[in-house]
This record gives sequence, structure tokens and C-alpha cells, in this order.
Amino acid sequence: MSVTLHTPVAELPGVKPAQARCLAKMGLHYAQDLLFLFPRGYEDFSDLRPIAELEADLPQTVQGEVTDIDSRGGFGRSRVGVVIRDESDALRATWFNQAFMRDKFKVGQRVQFSGKPRLQGHRWEMAHPRVAYLDGDPANSAEEGLLPVYSLTEGMTLYHMRRIVGDVVTALASAPEEVLPDDLRSDYDLMPLADALRWVHRPADEKQRDDAVRRFVFQELLVLQLALAARRLQQRVGFKAPELPADARVDARITRLLPFDLTGDQRAAITAVAADMASSTPMNRLLQGDVGSGKTVVALYAMLMCVTHGWQAALVAPTEVLARQHGLTLEKLLAQSRVNWRLLVGGMTDAEKADVKRGLAAGEIDAVIGTHAVLEESVAFAKLGLAVVDEQHKFGVRQRAKLRSGERSPHFLVMTATPIPRTMSMTQFGDLDVSTIRETPPGRAPIRTYLVEPTKRDEWWGFVRGRLDEGRQAFVVTPLVDESATLSATSVQEAYEALTNGELEAYRVALLHGRMAAAEKESVMEAFRTGETQVLVSTTVIEVGVDVPNAAVMTVASPERFGLSQLHQLRGRVGRGSFPGACGLLLEEEVGDKAAERLKAFAETTDGFKLAELDFELRGPGDLFGDRQSGLPPLRMADLRLNLAELLEARAAAAKLFAADPGLKDERHHALRRQMLRRYGESLELGDVG
Ligand code: ADP
Ligand code: MG
Repeated sequence: MSVTLHTPVAELPGVKPAQARCLAKMGLHYAQDLLFLFPRGYEDFSDLRPIAELEADLPQTVQGEVTDIDSRGGFGRSRVGVVIRDESDALRATWFNQAFMRDKFKVGQRVQFSGKPRLQGHRWEMAHPRVAYLDGDPANSAEEGLLPVYSLTEGMTLYHMRRIVGDVVTALASAPEEVLPDDLRSDYDLMPLADALRWVHRPADEKQRDDAVRRFVFQELLVLQLALAARRLQQRVGFKAPELPADARVDARITRLLPFDLTGDQRAAITAVAADMASSTPMNRLLQGDVGSGKTVVALYAMLMCVTHGWQAALVAPTEVLARQHGLTLEKLLAQSRVNWRLLVGGMTDAEKADVKRGLAAGEIDAVIGTHAVLEESVAFAKLGLAVVDEQHKFGVRQRAKLRSGERSPHFLVMTATPIPRTMSMTQFGDLDVSTIRETPPGRAPIRTYLVEPTKRDEWWGFVRGRLDEGRQAFVVTPLVDESATLSATSVQEAYEALTNGELEAYRVALLHGRMAAAEKESVMEAFRTGETQVLVSTTVIEVGVDVPNAAVMTVASPERFGLSQLHQLRGRVGRGSFPGACGLLLEEEVGDKAAERLKAFAETTDGFKLAELDFELRGPGDLFGDRQSGLPPLRMADLRLNLAELLEARAAAAKLFAADPGLKDERHHALRRQMLRRYGESLELGDVG
């Protein structure tokens, strides 16, 4: 029978029914699934040495003849020793509590051991080495070179998996069509697909493995970059937004409303936004800026520009607390103006909501501030010209699509206070143009960060009381202890009770957590905003955007449970006015070295961009930027922490290819186009490219 890419695994020669069932459980149904099952890693049997030349603690392989077998003990604590000898020296392999190993060897037999050797006295030893038999049964023959390690499932051994995949590779490596055009392969020095498949599964050496892996990484990133380019193109031709140009008069009118001068970065961002909005191509801009860098005014500027032209603007916030806060800002700013703006949040009554929706549909309301949830459900705008989305990473491609109608799209401005690492802004956020605010507004007092040792807690609370006595306010934040929201509420509750009966009993302390009703949350926030409450004990509901200039002290319990960017967000809640801010991280007794180091790095810098990069290096994309948020399928081969060079190459290649052949219509690009649509067609809504 001839095997093809579409042969079911059960029909492959040498695959037993039970094995086929195991493969199916892993989602491997056809020969091609096995061909493209990339190894998770490799076992290195390439360093074969004479025993006399071994080095301690490196993975190495030796071969020799068994000269002695001994075993000791029994019952719970046994040891088997097998001594082998080559021309240079002897080595003893040992197994603990595996008495059966004794029967696996015969004196005089030739074997191979792989593992990390150690010198015991004058003799080399290897504990629990991998064994291969050099004579006899070919199924047990010596393993050499770099061997692939595959994901397995119960009932499937690595040995069998290697053999099954190996057979498929031998039969079919040349079968799949080449995806990368020849000139591109030669420009970037990438091996043909058939070679890459052979070598990724069974490389002769590390260089071959690396070259093969590089080809797949490049291909994966290229396909993603092409999909992003296709999406941009589609947005340019597929959707039309209103042209909302700024002029000097409009600019003067808006800047007059602001109580301060714009910083240079705010100006630059506004200039970019204005240029985008002047065009009928919908704006898709990401505005990133550290906490407190003043993104809101950029958003308000854009909204006012939109409203001036008779179009509606929407500002979407992740939480009701934030939506209301934006509402307060707008209220102050627009006290003297005729702009008709309204809030639309979950806490309103149905009648109130219906009234706002009617006003929006009739075009009577110029601007609305709401939460995602509310704006996504059944709101019909008469003339939506601009949607500003605060905290983009909670608002993906799909949600944006909901604010469009037919071919008409509003301009989009999305804002994030969590700086996006460079590689992420080229991938997960690659369909957006980016503006960055690095400068902080002038007159900001610095924030100091303290690592509070367990023995120094009294001192810290003394400091907090001192600030409160000076008239300042304080936050205390506890992590979500458990996934279950009820539990987290209890833990913050415990902190609240401990503080109100102890360290802060003389002060006005309030509790805020995610499980509280919206109205209750709002009244707690309001009391804190007005200074009626001095201390707010909360979970991370206050993480983003809350702006209370009189708050000067932030205390974080169990800080090791937070990401650095998240801690930075929390720290950014204080020192927003003219009072110097302080942030105390209450260290736990048993905090590990790694965590302590991370927190130390955090205490030493206030640069949110640096912290985001550091977080990314240490923890990977994480939830904040993870695939879950962006809505894109995860990368399989590329690791954005390691493959920046490939990413830059793939991006350049995609730009060139797409410029020469937008829509990838050229026959030489059809395979790439198919792969792009298969992988990203749905998530990026590339339905009808080309
Ligand atoms: P974020 O970027 O974190 O959303 P905000 O927009 O909330 O920051 O701004 C933080 C604070 O800085 C606000 O109180 C705001 O009024 C103030 N602010 C913004 N821009 C300026 C500026 N150019 N000069 C002085 N204060 C500013
Ligand atoms: Mg903000």
C-alpha cells in the first residue's frame, strides 16, 4: 500500500490499533499530522567519548563491555551497579530501587550509557543512565546523535513514537508542497521544506537542527505578518470612516478647555491621531503610555474633534469604576460647552439605559462613556465616528468588529497603560499603528518603593499612619488568593478586618472587591475620592486607571503573586498629585530568591517599559498579552522571547512580498496565501482577501 499525507494513522504500516488510538487521543489522525508533529526538544547522544575523557555534569555518552554486575539490599533501598570498560577506563552505572535492572545485563555484553557522569573517588559513575544495547536486537540498538523528544500520551512510549514518526518522515518528507517561494528562500538562506522536515525530526547535528527549526520559525512568523498585512489592506479598502480633519480653530477651542499645557509626547500623539482621523481609512491606533502619562486627554481631544464635526464618539472602559471616573473628567472639562454626553453602565436602571440608547440611535447624544459589556450589546449609533477603547488588551479584534456597521467603521483609538513589549506590538498587536507617551506630565512627585521585610511591618504601618495624619490617603491591595471569586473576597475581607482591628483602627477604612454590587462599589469609590474614606482595602479592581491625586501610599500584600507590570499599575495609583508617593511591598517570610530578585528590580526602576520587557522575559506573554486576549491562535514554533531576529526578517519579507503582490494573487504565492487563510482567516476575519 502506498502511504500518502492523508493516510489515516491506523493504516500506516507498523502502527498497532492500540497505538493508533493513542495517536488519535493526541489529535493525530493522518500521516501529515505526524510529519508536522514537531519535537518538543532533543536528547543529546552526540557527545560520545572515551571514559577517560569524560567531564563531570555534562550529558555525554560512553560505550563499553560489561565487566561486573552487583546488587545490594532489597526491600525499599536496593542498589544495582553495572561496571563497563572501554580501552581507556571503567565506569559504573547505578540504579537505586530498581532491582530488576540487574537482570537486564550480562557480563561480556556491549552497551551504551548516556547521562551526566560524576567522579566518585577515582571512578566515574552515572546514575540512572539511558541504556542501549550494541549487539543483538535491532529494536534496542544504540541511539546516536540528537534524538527528537515528542509529546506522548499514556500507552505510547518515546521509543515507539520515534519509530512511527521516523517512518512517516522517511516515506513522506518530500510530499508536502513547498510554501516559501525560491527567491525568498535564497534571500533569507532557508532550507527547502523537505530537508527541514527530515532534519527537524532527525538532525545529524545541532547546526542542522537549528537551521531546520529556523526555517519553520521564519515561516510561521512570515505567515502571521502576511495575515496582519492582509488585514490592514482589507481595512483600508473594505471599510470607510468619516473624514474628521482638525484645523487651528478646532485645536484652539479644544486646548482652551484643558487646565494644563500638553506635554511634547501628548502633542505628538494628538498630531498622529488627527492625521489618522482626517482620512477616510479608519484609524486603528494604539496609544501606549505609562500609568499617569496622561493618555486620557489625548482621547478627549479626539472625541471633541469628532463631535465638532457632528459625529458621535464613544469611550469604552474596562470597568464601571473607570467609566465613571472618565465621566467625571469629562464633566469638569465640558462644564462650559454644549456637548451632550452621557454615561452608559451596568449600574443604571433599565429605563435610564433605554433612554441613552434611544438618544444615541436618534443622534441626539454626541458622546457616550460606557463599559465594554454595555456598549457591545445592542447599541445602535446614528453616526458613530470614533470609538476610544481604554485598556486594549481586553478589547480584541472581534469586539471592535461589533462597533462597525456594514462597510462603515468608526475610527478606533485603543489605549493601554501596560506597555507592550516590542515583539508583541509586531505580532499580537501588529494590525495597529502605535503612538507612545514616554514623558510624564511636569510637577509629578517621585514615587519611592520599599521592600518591607516581615520584621519591619510595624515600622511600615507607622509610616502609613504618619501620611494619613498629614491628610493623605492610602491603598492596601491584596492578591486574588484563589480563582474562585468568593474566596478572594474573603481574603481581602480578612485583611480589612485585621487592619480595622489593628494597625489602622483609628482611621476610616473601606473595603472594595469585585464581588460587590456595582452601586456599592461606586459609593465606596466616591467616598474615597472625596476623602471621606482615608484607606481603601481592595483586590486588584483598582489596578487600572483610578485617579485620586490625594492618595500617597500604596501597600501591596504578597507582592510576589503579581506580575511586574501589574505591580507597576498598582504603584501608579499613588503619587499622582503633588504629594510624593510611596509604595510598600510586604514581603512574605518564605519568598524565594527568584521572586526576591524580581521585586528588587521592580523597586529600583519606575520605567514601566523596562518592567514590561523584564516581565515578558521572565514570564512570557502571560495573560495580559496572551493569545486569549488577542484572539489569535498561539504560535507553535516561534518563541517571541528568543526569535526577535527572525521576527524582524519575517516582517521585512512580508512587507516586500505584500508590496509586490498585495492579496498574494501570484501563483508562486498561492501556497502561502492558503496557509495564511487556514491559520488566520477566521481570527483576523480575512474572509475575502484577494
Ligand atoms: P493615564 O495615562 O494613566 O490614563 P491620566 O490621563 O489619567 O493618565 O492622567 C494622569 C493625571 O495627569 C491626570 O490627573 C491628568 O489630569 C494629569 N495630566 C495629564 N496631562 C497633563 C499635563 N500635560 N500636565 C499636567 N497634568 C496632566
Ligand atoms: Mg487612564
